[in-house]
Amino acid sequence: MADYIDLNGEGRSFGDAEAQAEVRDNDRQYVFHSWSAQGKINPLPVAKGEGVRFWDYDGNEYLDFSSQLVNLNLGHQHPGLVKAIQDQAGRLATIQPSMANDARGELAKRIVEHSFEGARSVFFTNGGADANEYAIRMARHHTGRQKVLARYRSYHGSTATAITMTGDPRRWTNGVIDANIVHFFGPYQYRSEFYSETPEQETERALEHLEHTIQLEGPNTIAAIILETITGTNGVLVPTPGYLAGVRELCDKYGIMMICDEVMVGFGRVGEWFAYQAFDITPDLVTFAKGVNSGYVPLGGVVISEAIHDTFVERPFPGGLTYSGHPLACAAGIATFDIFEEEGILERVRDLGERVIAPRLAEFAEKHPSVGEFRGRGLFWALELVLDRETREPLVPFNAAGDAAAPMNAVVAACKDAGLSPFVHFNRLQIAPPLIVSEEDLVKALDIMDEALTVADGYYT
Ligand code: PLP
Repeated sequence: MADYIDLNGEGRSFGDAEAQAEVRDNDRQYVFHSWSAQGKINPLPVAKGEGVRFWDYDGNEYLDFSSQLVNLNLGHQHPGLVKAIQDQAGRLATIQPSMANDARGELAKRIVEHSFEGARSVFFTNGGADANEYAIRMARHHTGRQKVLARYRSYHGSTATAITMTGDPRRWTNGVIDANIVHFFGPYQYRSEFYSETPEQETERALEHLEHTIQLEGPNTIAAIILETITGTNGVLVPTPGYLAGVRELCDKYGIMMICDEVMVGFGRVGEWFAYQAFDITPDLVTFAKGVNSGYVPLGGVVISEAIHDTFVERPFPGGLTYSGHPLACAAGIATFDIFEEEGILERVRDLGERVIAPRLAEFAEKHPSVGEFRGRGLFWALELVLDRETREPLVPFNAAGDAAAPMNAVVAACKDAGLSPFVHFNRLQIAPPLIVSEEDLVKALDIMDEALTVADGYYT
């Protein structure tokens, strides 16, 4: 039996050096990669994927514990998603957005039905960054105000306003593209900007800081506050108790739209359809992408409240995309809802998070001095690795182009050598497997991490 199928539909065996070289050569010769110095990268050629695993051309098997870029919620090659796309391609592969389409309408309906009370409609985009751009545009037109408050340590995408809203170093080299963006601090108890000693104090002080920022910027100039409901790439920062409800109150007090960026945490990642549902709040706009169809076909969107929808009932909304609500992407989105129900995804995410991951990470924290803190929810967790628990100095950051012997790189190498592909950012080892992961594979991956943490411990001072 063939190990994998090549581009021409031919069955091939692992270990074919020529086939691998061709993939690698075409990539290095012709593909320009995101976020990379083109001369300093060496991307792994992947031959195939299935469920929570993928394989390179030598037949090395990896557990995909980053779910690619935290998008592959239903795993590689889920038969339900593949069939939905094949069936849709066979009956209507594409249709422009100004015509009505059954797949688009059905998916919008299901998203609205699973959203906050008062959710009215969905605007579909091609991914997460443009979803955030369109949410901001809607908030600006709706309120007639221009400023947007976004948090430090956020990632909102790499298009113009989205990269300016981003609160991590990725925005630095892009300069200021949208001058009406202002950053503020959210709660982050482990590295508190507010010198808080308890989570409750952190909430109180973070909200005080936000209200001061609003007042100093001028409440009637602020269209929206955008936040990742749970900050993803920058550390799985779960909001402290009452924080999101407090932001909602401030938005109500000053007539500001509250936008939850659920691109990474929406569609089951933390055991709810949308993460804001775990915190009992009602946003005005919600952005989503990734998990809506596991990224099988690019899709994102904005869930819009009744009030904002009404702004554009008589007045045209100034914006649109050729592929808004692409039928192939929407068919995969509908299948996602079906599969979630059939496979009880939300229940198993909560169960595995509480019963398997949380206690095991608590054990890691006892056993490995390099684990400064662990935090998370559902199937989304981070281990913050440090050189010293007292000073909380981060383990030397991971750097894709960096020295293989650098501590975080060495931790990643230990994981990869043992068959685990983890999500790593700065000094954090993050856990984000496909939501279909079996308990057995989850335990196997945690065992590999346990071993890899002894490498991190070796740098502990
Ligand atoms: N918002 C969040 C929270 C994200 O994690 C990402 C991507 O990682 C984006 C927005 C951008 O999404 P995209 O890469 O689809 O533009």
